Amino acid sequence: MSTQSATAANSGLPSPASPLLVGDHPALDFLNSIFSPAGSPVDFLESGNSLAIWMQAAKVVPDRVVQSLAAFSPEQKDVLVVRVRELREYFRALLFKRQAAHEAGAPLLHDSDIGFMNDFLRAAPLLQQLCLDDGVVKLLALRDLSKPVSVIAEIASFCADLLANHPIDQVRKCENHACSLWFLDAKRGPKRRWCSMAVCGNRAKVAAHRARLKKDA
Ligand SMILES: [Zn+2]
Repeated sequence: MSTQSATAANSGLPSPASPLLVGDHPALDFLNSIFSPAGSPVDFLESGNSLAIWMQAAKVVPDRVVQSLAAFSPEQKDVLVVRVRELREYFRALLFKRQAAHEAGAPLLHDSDIGFMNDFLRAAPLLQQLCLDDGVVKLLALRDLSKPVSVIAEIASFCADLLANHPIDQVRKCENHACSLWFLDAKRGPKRRWCSMAVCGNRAKVAAHRARLKKDA
C-alpha cells in the first residue's frame, strides 16, 4: 500500500478498499476517486494496484471486468491507471464545461468535446453473443476483456451514460466551494445540496449559525 493510501486508512478516512461512494452514479463515484478530505488530495487511483482494489470495492463495473485486471502485469496496470486518470480529469473538465454552458444558456457540448470519450469507447467495442444462464439463452453485449484498454472502455461507458441518459439539472457538485465531490440527485423531494449532510451540510449550518450570531451581536 502506498504512503498516501496508508495515511488515509490509518486515519479512518476512506481508502481504495473502503471508497467514498456518495455519487449515486458510477461515473460520479469515479470522478470522486480523488478528493481532499483534510485539505490535501487523496487519490484512490494513484497506482495500478490501487485501481484494482478500488474497482473491486466500489463495484462500479461487473465482476468479470474486475477479474480481468488480475490477468494484467503490474507494468500493464501502471500504464492503464495513467490513462484512467486521464479519462477522469477529461471527464471532470467536460462536466464543468457543460455546467457553465448550461448556466449561460449556450449549447452544452460540441463534437470536439465528446471525441475523446468516443475514442475510449471505440478502443474496445461491445460484441453481441449468446450466453447460457441457468439453461436460459440470453443475448448479451460484452467486451473482449483480454486487453487493459477494455477496462477504460468500461469506465468510459458509464461516463457516457451519465452524459446521455441523465438530465443536467440532476448532476451537481457539492455546494461547499472547498469540496470537489459530485453527485446525481435523481430522487424526488428536497434538492440535494451537499455530498454529505454529515460533512459539508453540517459545516454550512455551523457557518450560517455563526454568521447570524455575528450579525445579532
Ligand atoms: Zn461536500
